[in-house]
Amino acid sequence: MSTDPSPGDLSPSQTRLLDAVDGDWIDEQAWQLLQIPSVTMDEGEVCGLFERQLRDLGLQVDVRAVDDDGRNNLYARIQGQGHGPTLMLNGHLDTIPLGDAWPPRQTETQLHGRGATDMKGGMASMLGAAKAILDSDTGLQGDLILTAVVGHEETIARKDGPMALIEDIRKGRVGADRILIVEGRDALWVMSMGSMVFTLHLDSARGGMHTQYVPFTDNPLRHVGDLIGAIHELQLRLDDTTQHPLAGAERIDLGAVHGGDYFNRTPTRCTLTGTRRWCPGRDAHQVLAELQALAQSFADAGDLRLTVEMEHEREPFETPEGDAAVRAVSAAHARICGDSPEVVGMRIVGDANLYVHGCGVPTFYYGPSNETAHADQEWVDRRRLRDAAAVYALTALDYCGQRE
Ligand SMILES: [Zn+2]
Repeated sequence: MSTDPSPGDLSPSQTRLLDAVDGDWIDEQAWQLLQIPSVTMDEGEVCGLFERQLRDLGLQVDVRAVDDDGRNNLYARIQGQGHGPTLMLNGHLDTIPLGDAWPPRQTETQLHGRGATDMKGGMASMLGAAKAILDSDTGLQGDLILTAVVGHEETIARKDGPMALIEDIRKGRVGADRILIVEGRDALWVMSMGSMVFTLHLDSARGGMHTQYVPFTDNPLRHVGDLIGAIHELQLRLDDTTQHPLAGAERIDLGAVHGGDYFNRTPTRCTLTGTRRWCPGRDAHQVLAELQALAQSFADAGDLRLTVEMEHEREPFETPEGDAAVRAVSAAHARICGDSPEVVGMRIVGDANLYVHGCGVPTFYYGPSNETAHADQEWVDRRRLRDAAAVYALTALDYCGQRE
């Protein structure tokens, strides 16, 4: 990887912009962010720092309180001339619990600590791109919006920061034609499957009975066993029929099966809990209905009452590789890193699933790195922070357009 592509490939404005990417300054911003613990629900202090970092760039900051404890979303704008699309860079300021990734430390080439790669490093790269655009006096046609949210990582926050951003986009407080989440590794992550946690309850109307009076063929657990077999067969069908080119086959998985409370009594209630992940093109209710239909025949066979529930459902998203903003990142990565970025899809979901469905804005990811996210040894490479900032800056120039 090189940040020094041959100058002949670059326009004068691109060259000026890349010359203004200040790796040491980006390092310093990342290091400051790293030194403030910001586990979800305790982001107040780091919000204060990021707000100052934005203001130090000369930007006005729209401070959007997410709750009354200083947990704020932060929005800032580099205004364009008004004749181009608006690009929003987005990331979260909270982290998972500190664990063994504390305290932060530096090596010659890396920054270590909780949040280094997930995702204070990306936030520092975002700042670095903005600084390069401002310092080089690069004028844009469309607006470049910088956004930070709280409440991403821990479920206790119920995604309150991302949901507040969605509300603000819907109400016009902040705008975007595309959202680029500055998280992940240096690949174009353009697709995630939908995801849900499902629960199937099978209740026996006749209640618990001594097993000597119930032939095993009528035991609810026998029917649960058959249902588990059918779930396996469903997975085999999914393997055959739902291969997504970026993310592979859809999945159904079981994590917990409960039934019965005594060695010689039939259970009154059996419960199966698991996850289901599905490709773009279908939604959570369709997938749940399919699961209900599958389970119903086994419930009927055992004279059991079936109830089906889902929670934590997220719809799938897919932003086309040919999208103008995706192409802009791809071209910028090629200039900075000398190769085409990998294009990836995931079974796991993230904030892009929320943004795409919550406010209809095409969204995708490209970050400095992600390999040590949530690990006991979390770190980010300083070089990658600078390269990512250069990619974001070139992307803004390309996608938003250059001022005349
Ligand atoms: Zn993250």
